[in-house]
Amino acid sequence: MLPEKLQECNLPEQPEGIILLFLDGVGLGLADPSRNPFARFANYFFHGHAGGSFRPPGILLETDAHMGVPGLPQSATGQTALFTGYNGPQILGRHITGFPSVSLRPYLYEKSVLKVLQEHGKPSTLLNSYSKVYLRRLERPRNERLMSASSLMQRATGQPFFTIEDYLAGRSLYMDLTNWFLRKNGYQIPLVSAKTNGRKLADLGKQYDFAVFEYFFTDKAGHAQSFAAAKRIIAHVDSFLEGLWENLDPTKQTVIVCTDHGNLEDLSTGTHTPNPVGTILYGKHADRFAGEIKALYDIPRAVYRVLGIPFDEGFVPKTELPAGSVSEEDELMNHTTEKALN
Ligand SMILES: [Zn+2]
Repeated sequence: MLPEKLQECNLPEQPEGIILLFLDGVGLGLADPSRNPFARFANYFFHGHAGGSFRPPGILLETDAHMGVPGLPQSATGQTALFTGYNGPQILGRHITGFPSVSLRPYLYEKSVLKVLQEHGKPSTLLNSYSKVYLRRLERPRNERLMSASSLMQRATGQPFFTIEDYLAGRSLYMDLTNWFLRKNGYQIPLVSAKTNGRKLADLGKQYDFAVFEYFFTDKAGHAQSFAAAKRIIAHVDSFLEGLWENLDPTKQTVIVCTDHGNLEDLSTGTHTPNPVGTILYGKHADRFAGEIKALYDIPRAVYRVLGIPFDEGFVPKTELPAGSVSEEDELMNHTTEKALN
């Protein structure tokens, strides 16, 4: 039996409850309904994305997605910055789209925010759920080239991915917010409101110091230049955020809604946009984060500071390329081809 005082010290601390919601491809656009669906369709959370002001409780902060490198901000480099705190575009000297390339992956393997937090004893996870078919595909050799930044970082922690079964049991979330995609793929389950899943994110977030959830249909609708798809997606995301805001305890939890580059806010183009991007902050550490976040790579760094974890500024990846690896240039060729096919 431990002495009473020591027992008190050993009581588990309440997790910090920071939630990072990553919305792919959502920039700050103009008040122009002919090109910006946020200006055309009713919503509560995105007036600031259509030339207006942010209305819900919290802060909308303009955030630098270029990070000192000219060209259109892109996914692989932007997401590396968001999930590691290292300047993805500066590492490569350019912005690259698609999935993290051979030079970026070591940052996600060795220094992703999930891995660093776990090494410091801070429970953290990716809350997205994966199908068994998709997970089997990831096991094939060399398929790491086809893995998103978030998948790479979760895999490198050694924690299992959440599955659809976890989602159905209430332990995680699924990327479609309402079950529409699961139903389309044969799951006999009812539709749910995105708001219900937003409420669930607030609950799940309480169990972790840091929890990430990724949503990418915003980027898909942007590439499709489809106002009909954008209308559906905006309604889903708006209602998801409504549930999250409603069920969050802002005295104990913090939400960071971030993105990697512009896209959905300008459907006159099928590519990403050079528009500034916004970071939405709400809850306990919102004011502090607002003072510390200027660029995408500041987001994990601000989280480290709040949790008292040093950021390894001088990190140089040690991971050596396995024999038979494709070179950075080969991979970039693939990225270019994938982009052309999009
Ligand atoms: Zn994209």
